[in-house]
Amino acid sequence: MIINKVYLSLGSNIGNSFFYLLSSINKINSLENTRVSKVSRFYITKPWGNLEQNDFLNCAVEIYTKLLPVELLKELNKIEKYHNRKREVHWGPRTIDIDIIFYSNLQIQNDKLTIPHKEYKNRNFVLVPLLEIIDEPRKILRYINKKTIGDLKVFNYDKKIMIASCLCGNNVRYDGKNNYSKLFMEIIKNISYCVVCPEVFGGLPIPRKSSEILNNKVYSIENVDLTREFVKGAEKVKEIAKENNIEIAIVKEKSPSCGYENIYNGNFEKKLITGMGLATRELVKLGVNIISI
Ligand code: SF4
Repeated sequence: MIINKVYLSLGSNIGNSFFYLLSSINKINSLENTRVSKVSRFYITKPWGNLEQNDFLNCAVEIYTKLLPVELLKELNKIEKYHNRKREVHWGPRTIDIDIIFYSNLQIQNDKLTIPHKEYKNRNFVLVPLLEIIDEPRKILRYINKKTIGDLKVFNYDKKIMIASCLCGNNVRYDGKNNYSKLFMEIIKNISYCVVCPEVFGGLPIPRKSSEILNNKVYSIENVDLTREFVKGAEKVKEIAKENNIEIAIVKEKSPSCGYENIYNGNFEKKLITGMGLATRELVKLGVNIISI
């Protein structure tokens, strides 16, 4: 099956827009047969249309995907829905808006989809981020409106982010390995961040036996009750989050400490259930926005 190169434009102007953009990029990267290959810088831009509303935060993303255009559109709509976007007002405020700008060299026009996007030539907030990552900049350069280019400002996140240590490439996992996230390490390279590993904070060694949560307690695969160590680690993470006014944390899915949506069922059967790791629970209680990879 052919892998297609696609360019997307993302925008948000409600709530923690930086979180919505990062979380959407993560969800796009998690789609079946899809990977995010490039992300532009983030730009603060003036709203489009005549409505009184907050400034937008925009970026552009390059992906490779085997999904067909309609399949991709459906998945992107699900990601918008996951982030509670309400389609109430045309050009109105939105938690996240994801548009397909180019899909390989395809030209499509039907009632569901227009590719290339019908408005991209008129929107600096699409063109300027896109110019940073597109393989053929000459394709779009001539459409940039130089008179209004000053309306776009590069966004610098001036708070700290929290990130799970194994995602940074540190060998702190139970098996002494890591879950390095090239994509997110690249995105946050100019941002300050706190690196945490709750299980190491709890005093557990590297490597260690794998553990799972069962009935609100944590047991190793050898049935040793490690709840005390996991709670200690989660408390430490909470403390660091409070001290650093953390609003966004990037964690590792499925872990009994860091999982956000899924964890293993507690019987070491490699079966996932809906549930949250102990450290992530503490972060959620503090109101931290979670991105789980
Ligand atoms: Fe990674 Fe969290 Fe497990 Fe530490 S506890 S290895 S940071 S998933």
